[in-house]
Amino acid sequence: MLSTKLQLQDKLPLTCSRRGTCCHGNLVMLNPWELACLAGEKKMTPGEFRDLSCDYGGIRLRFDGKTNGQGKKACSQYLDDIGCSVHVARPLACRLFPLGRQMQNDDLNYMYQGEQFPCLEFCPEVTKLPYLTVSEYLADQQTEALEMAQNEYLKLMQNLADIAFELLLDTGLAASGDTETLPQWRIMGNQLPEDLAKSIGPEWLDSLMIPDISLESEDPVSYALKHHDLLRLKVQEKMGNLQTFPELHDASVLIMGLALHLARALGAKPEILAEHWINTAKLHGAME
Ligand code: SF4
Ligand code: SF4
Repeated sequence: MLSTKLQLQDKLPLTCSRRGTCCHGNLVMLNPWELACLAGEKKMTPGEFRDLSCDYGGIRLRFDGKTNGQGKKACSQYLDDIGCSVHVARPLACRLFPLGRQMQNDDLNYMYQGEQFPCLEFCPEVTKLPYLTVSEYLADQQTEALEMAQNEYLKLMQNLADIAFELLLDTGLAASGDTETLPQWRIMGNQLPEDLAKSIGPEWLDSLMIPDISLESEDPVSYALKHHDLLRLKVQEKMGNLQTFPELHDASVLIMGLALHLARALGAKPEILAEHWINTAKLHGAME
């Protein structure tokens, strides 16, 4: 679907009429910081919150509440007559809606899907409420910390992919004539999220989505950096001493799987990223 790109000074009907329309039948992806914040708000551990309210190892908020008049299921955090039960900890996607955000090569854009402003379909009354500029809306929704978390996790995603490259290219695996690893990256890029989560397995999924980091006194950037260190340490511990090509192949596939799963959590398209990373690896001598 085409999207309409916005400028920060564009003025739009961005005052929500609070019908809860978009808390039904929607798709809300979570990065690990957002998951930890939601769990904190519910006074649960991230693992408890993940098991109760998320799909695919924690990358998506579950929409299994009551069905509304349009036949759409409510978000697991939506309460009739009250609305969002995690309002202060709501994820970035919820704060931004109906807008979206795209970061590409340090170029940040805000947009909405389609040519018509999305709220008009089910909440046409928004045109009678105050109009806001995009920057006023972002300030109002307090998106800054969550945008910082999103940026840090995009870097972590690329760092994981870089580790998968190192395991393929810097260990002699690619030079040995390996043609198995890149096709496996492609398969994972096209896998359903539940299947990819299954191939990653519970131990690494937990390391990816519910790291052992306390939220207390952590800002999103230091949380993501600590998470990065924990993952690096685990890779070092489990993969620092691999001896055989089959072991290196499995390790490269696993770490690329983590990068692709995190990519989906961040709203990127794993199939496109997998192709991009396969082409980059080929430019450096890998084969399929
Ligand atoms: S669709 Fe728009 S106006 Fe309606 S509830 Fe959602 S954000 Fe508010
Ligand atoms: S987290 Fe809150 S704002 Fe977001 S979809 Fe669920 S109920 Fe709605």
